[in-house]
Amino acid sequence: MPSEFDIIERFFKKSVPNEIVGIGDDAAIILASQTIEFAISTDTLVSGKHFFPDTDPYQLGFKSLAVNLSDMAAMGAKPRWSLLALTLPKNLTGNDNPWLSNFSKGFFDLANSYQVALIGGDTTSGPLNINVQIIGEIKRGKALRRNNAQADDDIWISGQLGNAALALRHERQHIILPLEEKTRCLTALLMPSARVELGQRLVDLAHSAIDISDGLAADLSHILKASEKAACINIDDVPCSPFVKENLSQPLIRQCLLAGGDDYELCFTAPEENRNAIASLGIELNVSLTRIGKILTGNQLIIEDSQGRSISLDNKGYDHFIS
Ligand code: ADP
Ligand code: MG
Repeated sequence: MPSEFDIIERFFKKSVPNEIVGIGDDAAIILASQTIEFAISTDTLVSGKHFFPDTDPYQLGFKSLAVNLSDMAAMGAKPRWSLLALTLPKNLTGNDNPWLSNFSKGFFDLANSYQVALIGGDTTSGPLNINVQIIGEIKRGKALRRNNAQADDDIWISGQLGNAALALRHERQHIILPLEEKTRCLTALLMPSARVELGQRLVDLAHSAIDISDGLAADLSHILKASEKAACINIDDVPCSPFVKENLSQPLIRQCLLAGGDDYELCFTAPEENRNAIASLGIELNVSLTRIGKILTGNQLIIEDSQGRSISLDNKGYDHFIS
């Protein structure tokens, strides 16, 4: 079975004019003026695939924009405009059904907090499917790309990983989380904090970035492939909640932290000389920023524990056509 990336590569990746950055990063980049570029991206949430059909509509509205804001964050762009294409089953659109008013409230609460305007879209009927396009602005030549990691860069992660993956396992009844953890993990799954300010502030400090949507191992591998570099990370340094560290088995911790997906944290690489500036930025923005490894020459992703033991992962991350 081809992966989603095989499909994109084979059927859709074509050359584009020189001044445009096309397929292969968190957003495409086009020149808007002499000094400004637009970053443009789109993400779809499919009922039954990306969310349970009975998901709270407020949270769904919030998340459908948040996952797109996260791609803007990964490019270091300031999100400005969005388009919303909704495919709605008829049972959600009745006058006495609050689904749409709650969905739009969730969407606009987040949009307003970043002054992102909804400027268009499409509304059709059919199985529930939510597609958002987002357009952001960035100073010309400043976008954070996946392809500029340099040997010896530190690899950094924002926030904590694994919480959304745990929530999903709880919802599927593979594990039972205590109430407080359940609430925290479900919030991470349904209302992710796109690192919009952080991304914009990293443009002068980081060499490369990606947002973690499919799992750390898969997404860091995209940076390595695009930059033609290798990396070594320490699994014990990957930031997670104390609950995860203290209560879960090692194999489950590894799956959740490395291949969990839906984290929407930033993974970025930066030169050692910027360590202090990055640490100060984390304090200023109240976002924890953790160093988990180094970029190396070569082409593999090496994952070790604190004892230097190598860790192999059966499932590297989420792929729509393989997972
Ligand atoms: P992300 O996880 O950041 O949303 P994806 O992994 O979905 O990015 O996509 C990888 C790259 O492929 C992106 O640059 C995206 O714009 C591009 N892409 C995905 N699907 C298509 C498609 N059907 N046609 C053209 N480009 C695509
Ligand atoms: Mg992305």
